[in-house]
Amino acid sequence: MSFRKASVRDAEVAGRRVLVRLDLNVPLSEGHVEDDTRIRAALPTIELLRERGARAILVSHLGRPEGFDPALSMRPVGERLAELLGTEVEQAPAVVGEEVEAVASGLGDGEVMLLENSRFEPGETGNDPELARRLADLAEVYVNDAFGAAHRAHATTVGVAALLPAYAGLLLQAEIEHLTAIAEDPARPLAMILGGAKVSDKIGVIDRFIELADQILVGGAMCFTFFRALEIPTGDSLVEEDGVPLAAAALERAQASFDLQLPQDLVLADRFAEDAERRESEGVEVPDGWMGLDIGPRSAEAYSQAVAAAGTVFWNGPMGAFELEPFAAGTRAVAEAVADAPGTTVVGGGDSAAALQQFGLAERVDWLSTGGGATLELLEGKVLPGVEVLNDA
Ligand code: ADP
Ligand code: MG
Repeated sequence: MSFRKASVRDAEVAGRRVLVRLDLNVPLSEGHVEDDTRIRAALPTIELLRERGARAILVSHLGRPEGFDPALSMRPVGERLAELLGTEVEQAPAVVGEEVEAVASGLGDGEVMLLENSRFEPGETGNDPELARRLADLAEVYVNDAFGAAHRAHATTVGVAALLPAYAGLLLQAEIEHLTAIAEDPARPLAMILGGAKVSDKIGVIDRFIELADQILVGGAMCFTFFRALEIPTGDSLVEEDGVPLAAAALERAQASFDLQLPQDLVLADRFAEDAERRESEGVEVPDGWMGLDIGPRSAEAYSQAVAAAGTVFWNGPMGAFELEPFAAGTRAVAEAVADAPGTTVVGGGDSAAALQQFGLAERVDWLSTGGGATLELLEGKVLPGVEVLNDA
C-alpha cells in the first residue's frame, strides 16, 4: 500500500498561513534543549514551506502540563529551532487569542512563528471544538507532521484538521511508509526484538507480530513478566503483575509453531544502581535478594545472530537497564547487531533511540522512528486518528 493521504508537497501554500502540528516534545534541562533530534526531524517540512513562500505557524505540545506552566514554555525550543533554520522564529505568548492572531496576521511570506505549548490549553487533550475553531481561525491550511502525536485525538491533531484543508507533512509520511513496509511486504525472515519495561504497552504489537513475523526475541524487564507466567522464580526483578495474564496468553498463542524466544541467561544485581553487586547467571532463575538487569552474554549472542540472519528487523525497547553501564552490554550487543545487519532495520521507542544515540549507532539504522506509542499502534494495525482525518490524496 502506498501512502494514501494528500502530501504537503501538493498543497497550495504560497502567501498563505499554514498551521503546522509538529512533535517538538524534546527533553529540556535547565531551560535548554537537551536532545534536538525531534526538532531536526521537523526541519524538512518547515524548509519546504518557507521555500514555497508559506507563512508557517508551528504548534506542538511539550511535556504534560495541566494548564500554563512557565517551565514547559516552548521558548527554548523556538530558540534552538531558529538556530537550526538560520532564521528568526516569532514566539507567540500563548496558543490562541488576540495577541497570537496579531502576530499571525503580521507574518510575511516565508516567515515562521511558534505557538506556545498546546497543552497550556485545557481543551487540547479533550479535543475541544472551541479550541479547534480558534486554531483554525489562525490559518488557511493545516499540515500534520507530528507523527509521534498522531495516535492521539487532540485539538491540534484532529479537531483543527477537520476544519481546514489538511495535509501530511514529510516526516509523518516517511514514518508511515517505513513502518507499513515492515508489516506489508517485509524481506524474510522478519524478526522483532522487544524489550523495555511493560508488557501491557506492547502486547498489541506482540499479538500482531505473532501473525506477521517469523521470530520474536524478548529481553528487558519485560522478560520477567513472561518468566512469572511460566512460574520461573524472578527474585526482585521488575514484574508487571497486570501483564502476567497477557504474557501467558501470548505464550499460549505462540505455542510450538511460532518462534518466541526468552533469554537463556541473565546479568543479576543486588539493587538498581551503577555500583550494585553484579553477577552473571547460568540460567534464568533469579534468587531472592537479586534482580535481573540485563540479558546474559549467551542470549545477547543468540539475539545478535538472529538479527544478522534477518531480512527485516524491528527493534523496540532496551534489553536491560542500559542507563547503568554495568548492565548495558546486552542492549549494546543488540544495537551493534542492528547497526551491522544486512537486512532492513527499523527502530522505534524513545529509550531504544536514546540507547542507539548513546552508542553512536543512530546513523546506522535504516529508519529510526520518532514515535513511541504511535509507532507501536501503527504496527499493531490500528488507524491513527491524526492520519485518518487528513485529506485523501
Ligand atoms: P522504549 O522507550 O524504547 O519503548 P521502554 O520505555 O519500554 O522502551 O523501556 C525502557 C526502560 O526499561 C529503560 O528505562 C530501562 O532502564 C528499563 N529496563 C530495561 N530492562 C530492565 C530491567 N531488566 N530491569 C529494570 N528496568 C529495565
Ligand atoms: Mg520509553
